[in-house]
Amino acid sequence: MRSPLIAGNWKMNGSTELVEAFGRAFAEARLPSGVEVVIHPPFPYLEAARRAFSETPLGLGAQTLNPFHSGARTGEVSGTMLKEFGVGYALVGHSERRQLYRESDEDVYDRLIAALSADIRPILCVGETLEERDAGRTEDVVLRQVGHAMARLEPAQRARVVIAYEPVWAIGTGRTATPQQAQEVMAAIREYQAGYDRDLAAALPLLYGGSMNASNAAELLAQPDIDGGLVGGASLKVDDFLAICQSA
Ligand code: PGA
Repeated sequence: MRSPLIAGNWKMNGSTELVEAFGRAFAEARLPSGVEVVIHPPFPYLEAARRAFSETPLGLGAQTLNPFHSGARTGEVSGTMLKEFGVGYALVGHSERRQLYRESDEDVYDRLIAALSADIRPILCVGETLEERDAGRTEDVVLRQVGHAMARLEPAQRARVVIAYEPVWAIGTGRTATPQQAQEVMAAIREYQAGYDRDLAAALPLLYGGSMNASNAAELLAQPDIDGGLVGGASLKVDDFLAICQSA
């Protein structure tokens, strides 16, 4: 009932050349049926990506957005603008935004609402630090982040949200959560959502993120509560990313 979603988060990486290489590779790629694939390039490449991906199964995503639609917010980009460029998904609450740009749970909520109101599906990123895991606080932290973002949503809004569980200690470190560690937290997220609505929780797409690569993707994606991946480093290499998509 839940179809796989693989999202590539390029972060502040990439080039026009990389956009074109993805366009060429995915125009010919055979993907398992039902798999949805989205690339989140830096903003300046969105238009080039829209053109390069037009004959491919690749969709477009944003890495963040401002909570406001327009106005005096120098340097920012709104959901309304992103929608104009064909963006279908936006990351909100990525741990780099939470840590480096001090985005609080409330800031994350505001961005989630902004995405929904621009008809963009938010990918809500949640995850614990190593310190929090070692202190046995993983579920508390993750469910607090999920709860803060989701508690005030209407059912129709909740149905549009994707959640990515990304343990902070696994991001960009080459240290992946074991499939069992990831499954345990992701089952807890789904169970928590079932407290609001069982059917919506059963349909909720849950992605794992944190050093996912071509060698570990299949085993992670085989877990019952892992419906896809949010891929950073390995989404910058066409062959690796394609292999991850093919293992979904
Ligand atoms: P990584 O990044 O795959 O390089 O660990 C994942 C992410 O930050 O979304």
